Amino acid sequence: MSKIQPLNPERIAQMAAGEVIDSLEAALRELLENALDAQATRIQVEIWPSRWQVRVADNGQGIPGSELEQVARRHTTSKLDGRSLGFRGEALHSLARLGSLTIQTRHAADAHGWLAAYDRQGELTHRQPAAMALGTVVTVADLFADWPLRRRSLPQTRPLLTLVQNAALAHPWVSWQVRQEGQLLLSLWPGQSLQDLLLQVLPQVDPSDLRYRRIREGDSDWEMVLGLPDRLHRPRPDWIRVAVNGRFVQMPEWQRLIQSVFQHALPRHRYPLVVVHLRLPPEQVDWNRHPAKSELYLQDPEIRQEQLRQHLHALLQSGSGQASRRSVHLIRASEAKSVYEASRQPHLPFNPAPAAPACSAPSLPPLRALAQLHRIYILAEHPQGLWLVEQHLAHERVRYEYIQRHWQPVELETPVMLQGLSPQAVEQLEQLGLEPEPFGPNTYLVRRLPLALWSEDPKEIQGSLLELSRCADLESAQVAVACRGALRNGIPLTLEQMQQLLEAWQRTANPHTCPHGRPVYLALAEKDLARYFRRRWGICDRPISNSKMGSILELEPLGDRFAAQVRRSAGSSASDPTDEANAAPL
Ligand code: ADP
Ligand code: MG
Repeated sequence: MSKIQPLNPERIAQMAAGEVIDSLEAALRELLENALDAQATRIQVEIWPSRWQVRVADNGQGIPGSELEQVARRHTTSKLDGRSLGFRGEALHSLARLGSLTIQTRHAADAHGWLAAYDRQGELTHRQPAAMALGTVVTVADLFADWPLRRRSLPQTRPLLTLVQNAALAHPWVSWQVRQEGQLLLSLWPGQSLQDLLLQVLPQVDPSDLRYRRIREGDSDWEMVLGLPDRLHRPRPDWIRVAVNGRFVQMPEWQRLIQSVFQHALPRHRYPLVVVHLRLPPEQVDWNRHPAKSELYLQDPEIRQEQLRQHLHALLQSGSGQASRRSVHLIRASEAKSVYEASRQPHLPFNPAPAAPACSAPSLPPLRALAQLHRIYILAEHPQGLWLVEQHLAHERVRYEYIQRHWQPVELETPVMLQGLSPQAVEQLEQLGLEPEPFGPNTYLVRRLPLALWSEDPKEIQGSLLELSRCADLESAQVAVACRGALRNGIPLTLEQMQQLLEAWQRTANPHTCPHGRPVYLALAEKDLARYFRRRWGICDRPISNSKMGSILELEPLGDRFAAQVRRSAGSSASDPTDEANAAPL
């Protein structure tokens, strides 16, 4: 080894350029940020992956002709106030180093525009006047031409599109177009909110399946959209997205938190759709964590995390869960049927649902139980529609929340004996704080139990303890015992029992799904039914007599009716009660 000496500046500049721009995607990211910083309201992107070329045209402020010499030099920036996406003054310089950079621009202070070209050091090599509207067009061609190792595979379109979509979600007032090799791939028009843009980015999503809220509290401004978990979920966590001050970022703690909020509202191995945008004063965000600015340091991260948790919970509970598309209802209904087979179990005594605190109830309409269908569904009505509530799932939700609230241990007067426990099962019970005591070979005594699992029947307690001993953690233990004790499908219920169950279920904090994440009910809104039956007239509420019914259904022989008609038209007395029935609307 030779002695320590400073690196030459050329080498340092190359290293830095490679850190900022490591892909065509990174080049596009920097160009988009510059356009947004220039207050553009229209941004057009063109990509030519085969040529390693990207061009971003904006209608922003433009660059004054007098500054064109500086822009691509290292660490030159006009953004020192901390309010913009850029601030390092490195992007244009790095792009000049790694590709071939040209800029066309016109600033309001200049009488005409300019076309400028730069060399690999970021020095202006050529400049000529150009006719153009206010704004800037930056083109980077031949990226990594001298860096073959970075060109191992052609750039993919999808990450480039995701980048533009994310930028659009965080800047809803901008209109966007993306073309690839001349062909239009994406076009987004401006909207008022994150939600407006999300619906354009995901056109297959029904707006009634989303919940959106904007919350300004103190110096923070939260915008969030979530997909109702019984309607929208993903096989991957690709739609858990978080933006801070206009830029989407990697925040693993937040992603975990978001997943945990949805944990028992989603089916297993499915992920929610959640997009959050937090805007904060710039001094509360430190972007100097990653050259791509994809990570950050936040001031008071715990406070922000707690706010996020609370806002998400509130938004989740505000979901009414009524999908509007008829077809969705019908498809979902048939799905629901296949989930549960009616089990013809021996009749178990119906255990009235444990009461939940009323204060947590979200706004579900008051439901009146009408009938039990197939001993699985409770048919219920309310002024705006009909619901089918799956009895096992509804009770499972009630039990789950009851169990969570009553998990504190109680001492048993008579200990319960458990036999044949595996070492893992014993360990699991220990972890849950139940302290099984050895009592002979393979036999254990348990003297304490979570209150929620107490029962007069020792066999019932034994069953619950065995269930707990099979679960990996507290959450899944609670879900398992909730399911175990819940009313089975196939059990006949009286109207009164159904009503009790409906009321207890409606008081739960999250009635839309069971703790495994399955939807609990199917809502048929009256307005959807009216649309389905193409009914536009009002509803008549007069009862109808049996004789009228007989006549309007033409149960009388036609001959008699015809004779009555003839009598009437001949002026004879028209006392036949069918007269009115024929005239009255139904
Ligand atoms: P930074 O964005 O961190 O300032 P860049 O190298 O990306 O660094 O850009 C350097 C400067 O060039 C910016 O500060 C800005 O003044 C100017 N600039 C770059 N792109 C645009 C654009 N699209 N519109 C207006 N000005 C631009
Ligand atoms: Mg920049």
